[in-house]
Amino acid sequence: MSGDGTRVVRAGRRAEWTQGIVNPPVWRASTILYDSVADLRANGGRDTHHRLFYGRRGTPTQWSLADALTELEPGAEATFLYPSGVAAIAAALLSVLSPGDELLLVDSAYDPTRNLANGLLKRMGIATRFYDPLIGEEIAELIGPSTRAIFLESPGSLTFEVQDIPAIVAVAKERGIVTLLDNTWATPLRLPALALGIDLSILAGTKYVGGHSDVMLGSVTATPARWPALRDTSYQLGQTVSPDDAFLGSRGLRTMALRLDRHAESALAVARWLADRPEVARVLHPALPDCPGSSIFHRDFRGGAGLFAFELAGGGEGARAALIDALALFGIGYSWGGFESLAIPVDPARLRTAVPWQGQGPLVRLSIGLEDAADLIADLEQGLAAWRTATG
Ligand SMILES: *Cc1c(COP(=O)(O)O)cnc(C)c1O
Repeated sequence: MSGDGTRVVRAGRRAEWTQGIVNPPVWRASTILYDSVADLRANGGRDTHHRLFYGRRGTPTQWSLADALTELEPGAEATFLYPSGVAAIAAALLSVLSPGDELLLVDSAYDPTRNLANGLLKRMGIATRFYDPLIGEEIAELIGPSTRAIFLESPGSLTFEVQDIPAIVAVAKERGIVTLLDNTWATPLRLPALALGIDLSILAGTKYVGGHSDVMLGSVTATPARWPALRDTSYQLGQTVSPDDAFLGSRGLRTMALRLDRHAESALAVARWLADRPEVARVLHPALPDCPGSSIFHRDFRGGAGLFAFELAGGGEGARAALIDALALFGIGYSWGGFESLAIPVDPARLRTAVPWQGQGPLVRLSIGLEDAADLIADLEQGLAAWRTATG
């Protein structure tokens, strides 16, 4: 297999989709015209994946991005695109679950994934049992007669616990249970999910695929066995992505390997610097030993990313806000994965139901962008000074 830089540059750029233009052009469409009624009838009943049929089913602009994501995930049959990461998560789960089924959902899942389970899925008669992100092979003990799917997210949102994916997949495969992974943090470049035995690999393309904080996108990449149900469910839900957004996704993808390397290198430098500071109790970065599951990270992942959190050595809400407000290079806002650094306060304790959150001090989550690490460290240094002043 080629290197990651080569793979993202070449992925999905079939001449059929690009007509020789370097970037797949934006093909806008609703109606596709046929030559005759006979032509319309001949085309109407066939599989419309990768074939012009009607705008909702996509054009070469979307197919090129979907193909690219499939090519980055060894073992994949195909990819479906969605207008957001949450839409991708919803379609993936609905392609697997039916009333009466039970879902096992990791306790460190992205908050809207929890809301989907506790809202729409519950209303449809699908039960959810939340599990400890560090459970590993002991997940076998939670499996009941109606357990149909296990949803993983690694590292976890806000708290970064690294899951033992191979151990959980082994249990699931033995019992015919479908596994879904929210792979937004690692992307297939850092964690080839399907190669590890995951059935449905989900990305919020809004983050590292887009990479510039200017597009909402989601994707699900499926094994050959799971693809037909994913495709049909997504068609039935009317899911489609605009060609302009798919174009931005493709454009972002070309630099994703380069950006991820820089995000990861700077994030590790900032995390190590924070770990040595007296104001910081703990750094929750998957590559550092204080992060639960760090040894699994070093075993399974091919590299890092730019998102992590740190726990302050005391101080309250006000002192944490003083730190974040004092930062000049870190924006204050949701989402992550863009070229600009971000800092937000996070409070996982209120979300947890399987295992109480054990953290002592207030948490700050950082998304490390493409600025120079030395400048980000200098900015955090003056942020920590503001925190010291505020804590007295
Ligand atoms: C942001 C995010 C999502 C949702 O993506 P949107 O495009 O914002 O809907 C899903 N999972 C994780 C881990 C995320 O960080």
